[in-house]
Amino acid sequence: MEFSFNKTKILATVGPASNTPERLLALVDAGVNAFRLNFSHGAYSEHQKVIDHVRNLNKEHNRNICLVQDLQGPKIRLGDVENGAIEIREGQIIKLVCDGSLTTEGRLSTIYEGLAKDVKPGDAILLDDGKLEVKVISTDHDMEVEAEVIYGGTVKPRKGINLPDSKVSAPSMTEKDVEDLHFGLDNDVEWVALSFVRRAEDIYEIKRLIQERGKGTRVIAKIEKPEAIENIDEIIEATDAIMVARGDLGVEVGMEKVPMIQKMLVEKCNRAGKPVIVATQMMESMITNPRPTRAETNDVANAVIDGADTVMLSAETAVGAYPIETIRSMSLTIKTVEANASSIFNKTYKINPESESFCNDSIVANACSLARDTHARAVIGMTKSGYTAFQLAKFRPKADIFIFTENENLLTTLNLVWGLRGFHYNKFESTDATINDIKDTLLKEGYLKKGDVFINTASMPINEQKRTNMIKLSVA
Ligand code: PGA
Ligand code: MN
Repeated sequence: MEFSFNKTKILATVGPASNTPERLLALVDAGVNAFRLNFSHGAYSEHQKVIDHVRNLNKEHNRNICLVQDLQGPKIRLGDVENGAIEIREGQIIKLVCDGSLTTEGRLSTIYEGLAKDVKPGDAILLDDGKLEVKVISTDHDMEVEAEVIYGGTVKPRKGINLPDSKVSAPSMTEKDVEDLHFGLDNDVEWVALSFVRRAEDIYEIKRLIQERGKGTRVIAKIEKPEAIENIDEIIEATDAIMVARGDLGVEVGMEKVPMIQKMLVEKCNRAGKPVIVATQMMESMITNPRPTRAETNDVANAVIDGADTVMLSAETAVGAYPIETIRSMSLTIKTVEANASSIFNKTYKINPESESFCNDSIVANACSLARDTHARAVIGMTKSGYTAFQLAKFRPKADIFIFTENENLLTTLNLVWGLRGFHYNKFESTDATINDIKDTLLKEGYLKKGDVFINTASMPINEQKRTNMIKLSVA
């Protein structure tokens, strides 16, 4: 069975290669569902333009593309480097100072003041995505660390530093992150991703700030620290979604551990009914080539088969030479895998009878099994909070899922989630009239044909808009 649209969503990072209205639209036409704004780079004025372009695109082309604001978090970086580059050699003894001064021959500098306090002798310090490595010999626990070079090379300005062996004491949100978050909230971004999350408290903290502003922005925890893996159950409980941030995660835990961590994270999120994004280097070679490698195509396919809600692109669409080709290729892979891999569909879960949402969850589970048994073309939910939408996605029906809601912000928010497609709806007179309206809309849009079975879930009486309590099977 081929679907009307891909179930697995594509999140593409915007940058100079993609930030004009024409390119953003071309990317959407090729299959992008959501755009990521990377707040490690770019001025507010640049981000603002992209936000405005995407909002316009939604209006003019009747789309629900959503925005993910990605906050840098406590990322540790080198400072500026004398003449733009210096060399370090294997076996060399160097100093690493934490005063943000200029990096010079044999004396590296970071803007992170806590580094000398956080490390201990024997700890690894990785530079530039782990390309270079030094090992701590001693620290004065204040401003200066002495270290031996394990893997040498060229030290370039402002490259990232990872401390996989150390407990980093930096706060989970820097001053810049808080400022950036407020900018995102001013623009009603649908999702905000926090980098280098370590514990559930990091998520509660950002949620407090969002709540104080009275916004409904949902939170994505980027999993890229060993501590986050240790605290994963509490983090999944606290967050709305997670990202398997394979770039920094690979540096921090060793890249050979990432594949099984990816499977573990996807499985846990699927069970919890929380969206999970697989990120970084999925189509890396397409930054400079019009076609992906076989390994990259397999990686995308395997993320889909694992059960990811969303696959992400970074430099491929932000600065690459072939952003449109990248989306086309990724989209075709998703479509082909979904048409052939049965294991991703029709999930069953034991529903907890003690849970206060037990009745609602049972209705959704039964609607999905009814859809399976009747080979329904569509299963439809109505929601204001989004709860029923996330639940429908959790069961991974083969039928197309349509969500009808009056909540405009939710409409776009759901575009990041597996299988969900939203329609705006705000007439709540009678159940029969609403189901008829929905049928007409889906027929008109070509999502239903005469004779197709479709399944509605709703809350009766419909004008009270309470929890989902009804299933109806109809033939178009
Ligand atoms: P980044 O996060 O691109 O913001 O570093 C993703 C990752 O680390 O994989
Ligand atoms: Mn990262």
